[in-house]
Amino acid sequence: MKHKIFKNMSYIALITVVCTTVFLSAVAYGRYMSQVKEGIQNEAGYMAESLNQHENQSLDAYKDITISRITLISSDGKVLYDSTGKENSMGNHRNRKEFKEARKNGAGESTRVSRTLNKQTYYYAVRLTDGSVLRLSRETQTILNQVEGVLPALILMMAVVFVLALALSRLLTGRIIEPINRINLEHPEEETTYDELSPLLVRIHRQNEAIKEKIREIKEKQIEFTTITENMSEGFLVLNEKSVVLSYNTSALRILDIDKEQCSNQNVLSINRSHEFRDAVEMALGGEASEEVMEFHERKFLLMANPVTVSGAVKGVVLMMIDVTEKEEREELRKEFSANVSHELKTPLTTISGYAELMKDGLVKQEDIERFSEKIYTEARRLISMIEGIIKLSRLDENKIVQEKENVDIYQLALEIKNSLSMAAAESGIDIQVLGAPSQVSGVRQMLYEMLHNLVENAVKYNNNGGHVFVTAASMEGRPTLIVEDDGIGIPPEDEERIFERFYRGDKSHSSEREGTGLGLSIVKHGAKYHNARIQVESEVGKGTKIAIIF
Ligand code: ADP
Repeated sequence: MKHKIFKNMSYIALITVVCTTVFLSAVAYGRYMSQVKEGIQNEAGYMAESLNQHENQSLDAYKDITISRITLISSDGKVLYDSTGKENSMGNHRNRKEFKEARKNGAGESTRVSRTLNKQTYYYAVRLTDGSVLRLSRETQTILNQVEGVLPALILMMAVVFVLALALSRLLTGRIIEPINRINLEHPEEETTYDELSPLLVRIHRQNEAIKEKIREIKEKQIEFTTITENMSEGFLVLNEKSVVLSYNTSALRILDIDKEQCSNQNVLSINRSHEFRDAVEMALGGEASEEVMEFHERKFLLMANPVTVSGAVKGVVLMMIDVTEKEEREELRKEFSANVSHELKTPLTTISGYAELMKDGLVKQEDIERFSEKIYTEARRLISMIEGIIKLSRLDENKIVQEKENVDIYQLALEIKNSLSMAAAESGIDIQVLGAPSQVSGVRQMLYEMLHNLVENAVKYNNNGGHVFVTAASMEGRPTLIVEDDGIGIPPEDEERIFERFYRGDKSHSSEREGTGLGLSIVKHGAKYHNARIQVESEVGKGTKIAIIF
């Protein structure tokens, strides 16, 4: 811009200087010529006056007082006198313009330029009374001579103008540009600069507003997206076509056990090298959705990779990682459970069907019928309680219990259970004592009842004749706690871990003497989990068992 202003100013200055010079030269030349002409005309006028009054005067007398050349021409054009003294060699002048005009009008003039154009002569002729013509002439400057004369001054002037234009253009450019530089493009409307710039600034302002609006919309969408993905427990990764991570959520970092730096803009295949992970990503990059189960840090994740296509070409992959450890475990347990159920139900049913068959075929002696019926009855009861246990566990498994929680006094509960089991206990001469004080637990009453019932029932069942059972319900260290303690047969250390498994029954030799399904403690474990309670087992073979539930 500076350069352009300078160039334009230089052009203007140059044109102005040239035009002014030409104009002034022309004016000066005109003045010069009119002065020269006036001088010669005056001179000619005086001399003609003198010659008219005094005929036959010698013109040589005038030669020394004027710089003009004096020529006297006869009426027929013959040169009679010339102050250069060359009158004899001069031709006839009758066709000369000034001569003809003087002859005709009394006075005539003419300006002639020499061939070389360097010289110019002005002629002025006056007719004398005798008919001859007096002519005065003088060499004058041509306009070119005049311009030549002022040329050095002109060049100097142009140089000065050039320097001035340079300085001025700098100053001007600075002044013109300064308000433009001052414009804040963020808020162009705030600055009032040039009116001519107003439409542009208004437009910039509008565009700024439009851009701000777009950015705000994009930010909102980004926040929405981040809020959704960040609240997902599933891992979420967006990859480009080169498997580089473009976006991720915190769950993805947690699942892959990496930090932000190890994730953003990294190739995902270098983050996890398991072949399931690679297969899922590569298949999606090949344009096909894929699902794989990957094991990582002892947990199982379902990988769901979907290709992102733009006009038919795969441009990236969206990868979801879902923790399916519990689901898989549950599935595994359910399978195991179904197998166990079939097996466990088969045993009493086989016994029942065997005894019944013998009785049907009349192969049982009359005196054995009661024993056989008793056996069938016992097995049938075992079958019923087993099925009840299975139903309870299935309900717990499927979280079908939607009963409202209520405040349950576990001390009161212990007393109720003591009552319901007192008959069975009395049969074996076992004494049940309830200790502690009223203590409230927020929970499902029925479930709490079953839990404690199973524990006390076991304490009676796996006890010796004349044994003791202590049920304590109280708040210990600020937590409602239930403790069932017996001085029975105890649990071998190797069994302690397994007694909560479904259908697990301790040492068969003593278990066979005692009725049981192996489901009682499974229900206790599930119930404790449902109530966020902790179970503690302390036991010694031959001395007794102490099982505590801390809520
Ligand atoms: P069940 O009593 O029907 O066999 P449980 O799940 O209630 O099934 O108990 C599992 C196993 O744990 C029992 O078979 C038994 O061997 C052991 N057990 C449970 N409670 C006691 C206890 N108080 N004393 C000794 N052994 C116990």
